[in-house]
Amino acid sequence: MKITWKTALLWTLPALVIGFFLWQGAFAASPTDMSKNTASTRMSYGRFLEYLNASRVTSVDLYEGGRTAIVEAIDPELDNHVQRWRVDLPASAPELISQLRNSNIAFDTHPTRNDSALWSLVGNLVFPILLIAGLFFLFRRSNNVPGGPGQAMNFGKSKARFQMEAKTGVVFSDVAGVEEAKEELEEVVTFLKKPERFTAIGAKIPKGVLLVGPPGTGKTLLAKAIAGEAGVPFFSISGSEFVEMFVGVGASRVRDLFKKAKENAPCIIFIDEIDAVGRQRGAGIGGGNDEREQTLNQLLTEMDGFEGNTGIIIIAATNRPDVLDSALLRPGRFDRQVSVDTPDIKGRLEILEVHARNKKLGVDISLDAIARRTPGFTGADLANLLNEAAILTARRRKEAITMLEVDDAVDRVVAGMEGTPLVDSKSKRLIAYHEIGHAIVGTIIKAHDPVQKVTLVPRGQARGLTWFMPSEDQGLISRSQILARIMGALGGRAAEEVVFGDAEVTTGAGNDLQQVTGMARQMVTRFGMSDLGPMSLEAQQSEIFLGRDYTARSEYSEEIASRIDGQVRSIVDHCYNEARRIIRENRTVIDRLVDLLIEKETIDGEEFRQIVAEYTFVPEKEQYVPQL
Ligand code: ADP
Ligand code: MG
Ligand code: ZN
Repeated sequence: MKITWKTALLWTLPALVIGFFLWQGAFAASPTDMSKNTASTRMSYGRFLEYLNASRVTSVDLYEGGRTAIVEAIDPELDNHVQRWRVDLPASAPELISQLRNSNIAFDTHPTRNDSALWSLVGNLVFPILLIAGLFFLFRRSNNVPGGPGQAMNFGKSKARFQMEAKTGVVFSDVAGVEEAKEELEEVVTFLKKPERFTAIGAKIPKGVLLVGPPGTGKTLLAKAIAGEAGVPFFSISGSEFVEMFVGVGASRVRDLFKKAKENAPCIIFIDEIDAVGRQRGAGIGGGNDEREQTLNQLLTEMDGFEGNTGIIIIAATNRPDVLDSALLRPGRFDRQVSVDTPDIKGRLEILEVHARNKKLGVDISLDAIARRTPGFTGADLANLLNEAAILTARRRKEAITMLEVDDAVDRVVAGMEGTPLVDSKSKRLIAYHEIGHAIVGTIIKAHDPVQKVTLVPRGQARGLTWFMPSEDQGLISRSQILARIMGALGGRAAEEVVFGDAEVTTGAGNDLQQVTGMARQMVTRFGMSDLGPMSLEAQQSEIFLGRDYTARSEYSEEIASRIDGQVRSIVDHCYNEARRIIRENRTVIDRLVDLLIEKETIDGEEFRQIVAEYTFVPEKEQYVPQL
């Protein structure tokens, strides 16, 4: 829709501009053939008469019905050279001709060619014609584009914007680290390949499978792999493409899609982001969206409309199964749900193996180590990581990817592009203290993840970074671990304040504070880790505009609300005091580390711990190291 209008504008603009130039040009090109006889200087009519009387004029050519004359005369000022002048004659000078004749001066009249009138006529026409042609062209085009402006007039004829791939070329071995999902989906392949096996004993083949999981975990890839393994065509459309400005377009797209699919059965229909269309009906602020509901109804109707055994299986993907309309999840529709989760360390290793297949890896590369360094990475992140590493390798003109490039790529994927280091200045010192503050608090508190490195090389939005060794996400985090994280996050601001004073603290801690508040609040409202006791006072935070969520607002009194605020404040206060205490007590080593950091730009975790250990006790960290 938007795109169509953009192209429309792009197209009309040149048309207007060209039209304008032609129009202007038409007038500019209107003079008669006077041009070839042009005299550069002008002469007044009076002077001309003077010259005429003094018999200096040798010839006169009259143009434009006798209103302009090109006069050749002898110029006394120029050594009696013959010169040409242009003279504007008064409107009526009939006696001039007779005078010329009497004085025996050669004269000629040149009729005005009437093309000036013709030209201006053309000029006047060109512009509107171009404009009309442009509009006409646009209108025709937009009629061909589904959902374009012309759609308003014939919306029934929408061409569905779905893709069809006869062969996806993806097989199950291309998808790694999601074994449970793969096992469940292998059955779907059998439904498509050998339906007789099920229908013979009266079993109904399921129509819909819902893949649930965060973005980048391989849902699209899995759906393609099913089609690839079963050797059937793959139709795909995104839920957001159903939702159109014009009522009825979405529904007709659903109809078209199913019609095409039936012609090509057995096949897979893949609906990505189904939550865009399949959200709970009648929900949302400001009333429902009629168009979306119509589209959803059409989808439900189509799913009911074909028999389970036509060989069409619909696979839908979402990361918000909670907002889906319950009608979609009823038996006979998407009654199977397969969850596709962020991979664990083993899964990451397998995914890395898949994507390392076509890459040149150096001997020092350990995919184990990469898997260990990347908790929380999805399949898409890992694919991106190896690709970034390969790009870096090519840029550095190396033969094969080494661990150095992989490490840089991880930093880049997590924290963004590397910037140029700051020049030495007061603000660089402040940033150094801020980062060392995070690192020292993180090192001295036992429950905190160990420091991996501290750096002053800016990345993305950050002007300095402290990296902690990520612990494998085990799902459970203890109270002391959350408190440790809050203290660590406050370490930066605490160092700024202790070292530079209250007046000098900077905005650099904004992000830290946001995280701190979030963690502290969750401790109180979700995890029952405060004096309010083990109560869940708030559901998981979710955006208010998403479907039925808005009803999930928790019901608690004003009084509880202010007690929550009090608890959050006391957690943060406690942690901030701790952080400041650690900074104050370790000021000597902090100063030394800051100098070192400014000199070296980066200190790695091992060196950092050794230096701190010269001054104070550094607890052993218990890091959960999963076996591979
Ligand atoms: P989703 O649809 O869940 O958002 P995609 O299937 O589009 O994720 O994944 C994007 C890309 O990430 C894939 O094309 C693939 O290269 C890579 N990828 C994601 N998950 C996996 C996986 N489990 N195994 C291998 N590659 C994966
Ligand atoms: Mg996808
Ligand atoms: Zn910080």
